[in-house]
Amino acid sequence: DAPSPARLRPALAGVPAYVAGRPAKPIPGLITYKVSSNENPYPPLPSVAAAIAEASGQVNRYPDMMNVALKAAIGESCGFAPASVTVGPGSTGVLAQLIGALCDSGDEVVFAWRSFEAYPILVRLAGATPVMVALNDAGEHDLDAMAAAVTDRTKLVILCTPNNPTGPIITDAAARAFLAKVPAEVVVIIDEAYVEFVRDSDAVASFALQRDYPNVVVTRTFSKAYGLAGLRVGYGLAHPTLAEASNKTSIPFSVNLVAQAAAIASLAARDEIDARVDAIVAERQRVVAGLAEQGWRLPATSANFVYFPLGPDESERFDVTCGDAGLVVRRYGGEGVRVTIGEEAANSRLLEITGRLRSALR
Ligand code: PMP
Repeated sequence: DAPSPARLRPALAGVPAYVAGRPAKPIPGLITYKVSSNENPYPPLPSVAAAIAEASGQVNRYPDMMNVALKAAIGESCGFAPASVTVGPGSTGVLAQLIGALCDSGDEVVFAWRSFEAYPILVRLAGATPVMVALNDAGEHDLDAMAAAVTDRTKLVILCTPNNPTGPIITDAAARAFLAKVPAEVVVIIDEAYVEFVRDSDAVASFALQRDYPNVVVTRTFSKAYGLAGLRVGYGLAHPTLAEASNKTSIPFSVNLVAQAAAIASLAARDEIDARVDAIVAERQRVVAGLAEQGWRLPATSANFVYFPLGPDESERFDVTCGDAGLVVRRYGGEGVRVTIGEEAANSRLLEITGRLRSALR
């Protein structure tokens, strides 16, 4: 091709690529499992599938741009007024909207690293500067270091609990101590994409925190516990001014008609969703116990995945061994490997592989 004469924004040059979980490659004679993207192993519930089918008959029409019914259902499910609810195409969309509402070029956004892949991308896309603060050795946020990284240029802090890819939660006490140190005009997003899998009683109580600190925004998603990753719908709970700002920076009609219907139907099926989440948590507990028995020392996970911090050679060997055994996992360069808690057979296969690898690596 001839060179394009387009004058792209200079900020684009600094935007890292999103490395998504690989699709499963078929292996003859073996069922393969994709446990690389923290998806829900269950297909949509019958009532949700019916809502999707019904909505798909109306896609010649635009969706409700204001997401009135969806915001009302979300608000009702968690005790927030609809004016405090903002929705987007996945919580990634909500994060983009909030960053778009808050950040100009030169502004700084503080977050832990490693954490969710999309943070540095969205911050760079806005022309702002990511300030990445290393996790501690336990894979937890170093909140003292993060508070110390806040400057006059900081517009936003993103806390991820449980943290992707490592798994630990932020405790309520630690979150409150952190917020007491951060100026009230700095917005603090608490990204709770995996919150439904948390069983720790000392985990951050984000709704109460949002009520106490109007600069706190809680983001959640229908992609993980609710199993609607393919439809792209997430939400934020915020002070009405911030929720409104996030609505304003959203792409018009970004949450499609089928996604709105499916999310509303999922909220109506909370008991069934909860039962599935309980089953995934039970599988996580089985995997975590099995790995501990095999002698692995891993970060404490409260999410639907486990993380293996490994050196470069070990990471590659782990990744390749899993791939050859029909388990598609997510490798983070030479730092470690994340594996989603999937169907029972996938989890059992993981334990077989880790048992073999553990004795080989010893
Ligand atoms: N936050 C975290 C921490 C995540 O891991 C993910 C998904 N990988 C998301 C947000 C975004 O998910 P979605 O856009 O599907 O809601």
